[in-house]
Amino acid sequence: MTIYLLVFLIGLVFGSFLNVLIHRLPLAISLFKPLGSSCPYCNNQIKWYENIPILSYLFLKGKCSNCSESISIIYPIVEIITAIVTLLVYMNFWLNWEMILTIALFYTLIVLSFIDLKYKAVPDYLLIIVVVITIILGNFINILIFCGGFVLLEFALTFYIQNVKAKITKNKELENQRALGEGDMPIAGVIGGLLGIHLGISAIFLAALLALLPSIYNLFSKKEIETAFIPFLSLGLFITFITEFNIFLWFY
Ligand SMILES: [Zn+2]
Repeated sequence: MTIYLLVFLIGLVFGSFLNVLIHRLPLAISLFKPLGSSCPYCNNQIKWYENIPILSYLFLKGKCSNCSESISIIYPIVEIITAIVTLLVYMNFWLNWEMILTIALFYTLIVLSFIDLKYKAVPDYLLIIVVVITIILGNFINILIFCGGFVLLEFALTFYIQNVKAKITKNKELENQRALGEGDMPIAGVIGGLLGIHLGISAIFLAALLALLPSIYNLFSKKEIETAFIPFLSLGLFITFITEFNIFLWFY
């Protein structure tokens, strides 16, 4: 039991590091200079005791100790997600090289997901990292099949949006809109390579179902046209990876 708690705490610390990556990679800020973090509003150096995962957020009541601007709730959320992922992968594999690679894969997916949520675009080298790890851990042919399948899917959906939906809704903007993001295709490859054909299709279907809720919300609130899909693909992959739950068997 103590070991699980320890793994969870280590996960929280890594989550704190992933926050640094999520914040700095898209802005091309060095990861090591400056070593410490600072408040994005007043640039005040954050002291080590203000940088303890979860606890500091609670103690500071989500506000900077210097300027009282609120600290994004995303920080503790990333820490908790990272800790849960670390614990579940550890329980699945115990300590071996497969576990380390799998954790590296899911950590990279967490970083990709939160960058995608914020910018609706992701750095290519992070996509290359997850694909390379999947080539080592999984099945290369299945990666290719899923990438190819996703290109066809994107082609069909984009054709529908640009030629059918654009005419029905008389929305000129749609004529140049693509259905899926560029980053989604390699993630689909990762899903296929890691889970195989049947579970892989189930995971993507699950991701689409999960993505439906915010898409409907966006449609009615008219706030954003695009929904970041990488977080849902990653969630679908993780749930299916851990539970081996096949949504199609469930329907019968
Ligand atoms: Zn501040």
